[in-house]
Amino acid sequence: MPTEHPLKAFAFCPHCGSPLFKDDGPRSKKCGNCGFNFYLNPAAAVAALITNHKGELLLTRRAFEPQKGTLDLPGGFAELDETLEDALKREIKEELNADIENIHYFTSQPNRYPFGGLTVHTLDSFFTASLPNNSQLCADDDVDSFVWVAANNIDLQKIGLPSIRKAVALWITKTAL
Ligand SMILES: [Zn+2]
Repeated sequence: MPTEHPLKAFAFCPHCGSPLFKDDGPRSKKCGNCGFNFYLNPAAAVAALITNHKGELLLTRRAFEPQKGTLDLPGGFAELDETLEDALKREIKEELNADIENIHYFTSQPNRYPFGGLTVHTLDSFFTASLPNNSQLCADDDVDSFVWVAANNIDLQKIGLPSIRKAVALWITKTAL
């Protein structure tokens, strides 16, 4: 996993092109030519904890890197001008061809997501949700397949992304209460 600070990739001022684009604190750079200040913020991402009538959790298998082949939750990045809830509904439609309902905020976790040789710092928001009766799921997009697993049968070591693993661990703890 790349550990270099993501601002290292920004060598030139995106406003005027000057190479006098220098660190200005842990998450910003400032241009010595035009004064432009660039702030790095986490990318908003969403994931769903979907359960069925037996209380089993829906886990997906990642079709692509990073962590290809490991277990995951369905979800993805929010787009510009989109709410978290709309991002979640869109991602579940793209990945599983399903329309989720009963969406409730559960928890959040920061994550570092290696992408294209850079580290993308994300802020993942997790929501519980359910599916309408007789939903027919179909794995698509960046999901290879899916499986329903009871809370006491989930092997956290098979979940590749650390933020997903932490959220599922919390969900298991709350489910056991
Ligand atoms: Zn500049």
